[in-house]
Amino acid sequence: MSCGMRAWTIVVCLGGLLLAPRTAGAEQVEPSPPSSGPVCGTAEGRMPTSVQFTTLFRESLEEMLSRSDGFRSQCARLAQHPWVYVRLKFALSPLPYAFQARTLIARTLDGPIIAYIEIDPRASWPEWIAHEIEHVLEQADGLRLWDLAAEHRTWESSESTYETQRAIDAGRIVSRQMRETKRARRVAGE
Ligand SMILES: [Zn+2]
Repeated sequence: MSCGMRAWTIVVCLGGLLLAPRTAGAEQVEPSPPSSGPVCGTAEGRMPTSVQFTTLFRESLEEMLSRSDGFRSQCARLAQHPWVYVRLKFALSPLPYAFQARTLIARTLDGPIIAYIEIDPRASWPEWIAHEIEHVLEQADGLRLWDLAAEHRTWESSESTYETQRAIDAGRIVSRQMRETKRARRVAGE
């Protein structure tokens, strides 16, 4: 990145070996216009305007808002921080250490936070979107990962990258809620 105003950056992500061939390539990079539904709503919900994403994520994000309390909560917390800008896209080149997702977070001298989230196309999108958004929320909440690392409350997953239990838990909760609602809807014949 070439951001002259950047005060500091951190990278947060989690590893996981991915052995299948990569399938990315046809990504539509331009962010799509927002749907007309309510911000963070259950039915035809949409993300706050501060969150831009690759078009292919639209359906997944709407599904996550529809089916996961945890993700709606994350969305609502993001909406409370309009000075936190999120850019969500696929990783078009291999992530280091075979990570499934990565977020580069920059805080400008003026205060706004800009988070660039990359998701491996083969990863479980709901889990890793929620995981990385939680890392963004950690920064919106003012967490200083390097201080927490010194206290062993977070850890470096590789050089200059950090991992937190909070993000791991957030991703797993959303993933579980997606599975549970899918099962419940199937039982209900929806
Ligand atoms: Zn992480």
